[in-house]
Amino acid sequence: MSLVSADALLLDVFDLQEHDRIVTFLTAERGKKRGVARGARRKHSRFAGQLQPLARARVTWFEPPRSELVRIRSLELTRPATFLQGDLEGLLLGAYLADHMLEFAQENEASHELFRLLDTTLEALAAGADRDLATRYYELWVLRLAGVFPAASECLECSRDLAAGAVLPPGGEGLVCGRCGGGRGLEIGGGAVELLRRSARENLVALGARPPAKSVLAEVGELSARLRRSFLQHELKSARVIRETLAGLPPDAETG
Ligand SMILES: [Zn+2]
Repeated sequence: MSLVSADALLLDVFDLQEHDRIVTFLTAERGKKRGVARGARRKHSRFAGQLQPLARARVTWFEPPRSELVRIRSLELTRPATFLQGDLEGLLLGAYLADHMLEFAQENEASHELFRLLDTTLEALAAGADRDLATRYYELWVLRLAGVFPAASECLECSRDLAAGAVLPPGGEGLVCGRCGGGRGLEIGGGAVELLRRSARENLVALGARPPAKSVLAEVGELSARLRRSFLQHELKSARVIRETLAGLPPDAETG
């Protein structure tokens, strides 16, 4: 059995039987891992207070030769996730960010770019970045890294420049111009196209310095959601929960 240490982002924690917990975490070198934290549910466990989803931690684990489930020996928080734990919206957002990696990252496969994306997004959120903008940026980049993000430069069919706006045809994987779209599909405006272009070359800090309008963020969010659903063939569980939760809240709680 070999002993391995790595920086990790905790994605998911659930109880296993009476005393233990199962932790899913993302590493740069080895992708997604699942491990059991023995005794983590006991009162004076060495894991007490450490198993926070979306926290960054130094994890050391035993890798059994023929098992997918590793055994976590120690876990030391290097960046707690407290900035997402103080309010309902933050908790939902955390689950949503983690869900992307649970779906898109592979087990035991180097995932440097996905790791860096989640890590820098969390870093920005911890520093007070706008949650809406950070989420849109993150969604776009998850799709880009998965190779399913359409070019936002010109119409897929007639090569017209898309600066004035674009259309994602029903079931489509690429953007076309308004004329080729023929009034069907999801229309996005010039502002949304500009945000797609900017997100390819600017980081969150630069985007935040010249933030797009809320309506632009909403358009881009809907576009990403459609592309993601058609790629995964299903909706992320947390995306459904967020929609249902926000729908059940009084109107002013949604924006707060
Ligand atoms: Zn066209």
